[in-house]
Amino acid sequence: MNTDDYNFIQKSTLSTGKEMYSLMKSLFPICRSITGNGVRETLKIIQKYIPLTIHEIPTGTKAFDWTIPKEWNIDDGYILDSNQNKIIDFKKSNLHVLNYSIPIDKKITFSKLKEHIHTLPEQPDAIPYLTSYYNEEWGFCMSHNDFLKLSDEEYHVVIKSTLEDGSLTYGEYYVKGKIQDEFVLTCYVCHPSLCNDNLSGTVLITFIAKLLSKIKPYYSYRFLFIPETIGAIAWLSKNESNIKKIKHGLVATCVGDPGDVTYKRSRHGNAEIDKAAEYVLKHIEKHSIIDFFPSGSDERQFSSPGFNLPFGSLMRTIYGVFPEYHTSLDDLNFVKEEFLADSFSKYIEIIFVIENNRKYLNTNPKCEPQLGKRGLYRMIGGQKQDGSDEMALFWILNLSDGDNSLLDISNKSGLKFDLIKTLSDKLLSVNLLEEKTND
Ligand code: ZN
Repeated sequence: MNTDDYNFIQKSTLSTGKEMYSLMKSLFPICRSITGNGVRETLKIIQKYIPLTIHEIPTGTKAFDWTIPKEWNIDDGYILDSNQNKIIDFKKSNLHVLNYSIPIDKKITFSKLKEHIHTLPEQPDAIPYLTSYYNEEWGFCMSHNDFLKLSDEEYHVVIKSTLEDGSLTYGEYYVKGKIQDEFVLTCYVCHPSLCNDNLSGTVLITFIAKLLSKIKPYYSYRFLFIPETIGAIAWLSKNESNIKKIKHGLVATCVGDPGDVTYKRSRHGNAEIDKAAEYVLKHIEKHSIIDFFPSGSDERQFSSPGFNLPFGSLMRTIYGVFPEYHTSLDDLNFVKEEFLADSFSKYIEIIFVIENNRKYLNTNPKCEPQLGKRGLYRMIGGQKQDGSDEMALFWILNLSDGDNSLLDISNKSGLKFDLIKTLSDKLLSVNLLEEKTND
């Protein structure tokens, strides 16, 4: 990504925010889970934007300590009271059915029904989002206020779902760069009608992929649209032989809420992705940077000790902290175009830094080279001027000893990365720098 590409992409972030939001709106109604037709339908819609490959891993396939589960699909789910009124209707909100519920069709007493109903008494208007992937169970989720309206009568519970041998579905899109080293960006596509967690990440990754496919990036990029946890584990187990190519990774989640930007460092703590993200956040007044911890999203798998890949995660408000998290309140009103656009812009800035962060060698390391004869120094000495270009040249020449990257030079000098990059290009063009290749 050169400076022109970068400026072009950054200029259009507001309209990209609109497009991301509109994709999110079309994905919102789909009932997704870790397997099933909801994931396929989601990936097919994303294929209208990027030509991703849809992979299927059969039920029963081993993936390290895990096994691909049975595939879950659902058509309908409801509870009828004794007057045949639907007191819960999956068609109104797919959060109403415990995700991965086994099928059921029977009449039961209120006291039995209560054991299968989940509510949030502290958020009485919200429907909770709950799952039971690895324990065969059925259940319903509803607002606590609606639950309080139920009376002691007989109810008819119906869940029209299937749990059968099938497969786990995921999407993958690869953009070939100038080098084979990879930058991997992941999101998860297993949550039903929930926006910030994590349709926001899905649409963000889609649009980054779309834009990077139009330019010739330096790194090769791999975009993963996977069910959380089991999808990451399955992908890693299938792709273990290619893992060495991965140099940087980011997990995109919770990128559409109004909160401040949060960066969760990789397990390394000071990997290049960490330095790039911290550089970008440093210029934002309100932000937070937190150390890696082994829960959260798929950085858990990519950063497990057997892989230890440098995966960070750039979010806004971190999962679990915003009250809308895993409830029906995480909807299309909670996420806004402008926040999606802002997060997108930060991701692009991090990618720009990573794309251009090279280490160079000063080809004239004995004393300063004479910049004036190369047209790189003011011709009349003693003039008062801003001088940041000249300072940048001196910093680059002095620190280009093969150890410092352009980002290191930017951080040490306090000068902006794009200035350092532009002036290092000038020094390259007059052969005062050469690329360090044996890193
Ligand atoms: Zn979640």
